[in-house]
Amino acid sequence: MNTHDISALYDSHVMNTYGTRKRALVRGEGMRLWDSDGNEFTDYFAGIAVTNVGHCHPKVTEAITIQAQQLVHNSNLYLYENQGKLAALLSQNSFADQWFFCNSGAEANEGAIKLARRYWVQKETSKPVIVSALQSFHGRTMTTLSASGQKKLHDGFDPLMQGFKYVNLNDLDELEAAITEDVGAVLLEPIQGEGGIRTCDPEYLKSVRKLCDDKNVLMILDEIQTGCGRTGKLFAYEHAGIQPDIITLAKGLGNGVPIGALGCKQEIATGFSPGSHGSTFGGNPLCTAAALATLSVILDEDLVENAATQGAYLIEQLTELKSTHACITEVRGNGLMIGIQLDRPVGPVLESLMGKGIMAGPAGPDVLRLLPALIITKEHVDLFITKLNETLGAL
Ligand code: PLP
Repeated sequence: MNTHDISALYDSHVMNTYGTRKRALVRGEGMRLWDSDGNEFTDYFAGIAVTNVGHCHPKVTEAITIQAQQLVHNSNLYLYENQGKLAALLSQNSFADQWFFCNSGAEANEGAIKLARRYWVQKETSKPVIVSALQSFHGRTMTTLSASGQKKLHDGFDPLMQGFKYVNLNDLDELEAAITEDVGAVLLEPIQGEGGIRTCDPEYLKSVRKLCDDKNVLMILDEIQTGCGRTGKLFAYEHAGIQPDIITLAKGLGNGVPIGALGCKQEIATGFSPGSHGSTFGGNPLCTAAALATLSVILDEDLVENAATQGAYLIEQLTELKSTHACITEVRGNGLMIGIQLDRPVGPVLESLMGKGIMAGPAGPDVLRLLPALIITKEHVDLFITKLNETLGAL
């Protein structure tokens, strides 16, 4: 089918929650994508930080294929080697030693919120309130959108879920004042993604850790976008030299096969007991096969190091570009999670880049967001800089 015919099917039968889209994608390989009209693109967005090892990585494809021929699913009423191995591999490479698997980022945060609340109930205290940051994004379920500090996400969905309050990012005094006796957890993204690539200062995160310890409050880090190597460390909390109490993952974990996870230490995991949380699909043999293969590729092929090296080079090149293009007002981010703040709407810039075979994305109305696969090379970085330079020069 061509783009026009696919678009007509959407117009007739798919709910319009994403606005109009102009291209239908049919194939991907590494950093490249093709649309249904035969156009080729170099991809610097990785499906919103998902295809971290590149599109259709042969080892991930092989793992999915083999598993699909053996057993796709049979619920969490049974044990699966892949789920056990994935939990063990995540444990070997993080602070957490207990994991729960679900299907998306929103579900991972939903689980983290439930775990935090129930943990305190088990301790016979009532501390249901969670403090999160303004401009944060934690998902689209009723609870996770209530946890997200953006009014535009809340509009039209009242009544919101109770028990959330919001503070400005990087303002420790405001956070301290917000931690009243009924607060059981602080929930933060180490770098806000959807909120415009806004980074928590490492010193702030360190102080939040100390504050949480002093006030006996759990620290939850939403690493759904920052995790799995994206920021040049396997998990972004490593940049601050701290460990959260609970971490949530999704996006890059399965390289495109839906999977989410929440992890914590054994003591916190006692907040859940049999029957208190669950998922039909979560951690099934297929998605955990994909995640095991993805994580193994990230670790075996030193992709975290590559993300740090190429990310630093990309930020350096963009900062140089900023000095020749006044429309770039700031370059923010870490590793391969980068926001280019523009003094104008990002839409036309993205469209012009698309016309040159370059795919990137937005983070709000005026931020150009880069989230390329961790396999990116120096040549890919140079290509992006050349094309962005051309695009901004023509504005
Ligand atoms: N948390 C963060 C930091 C995210 O960036 C996202 C998605 O963009 C989510 C949660 C929600 O994830 P999902 O769309 O998989 O539910």
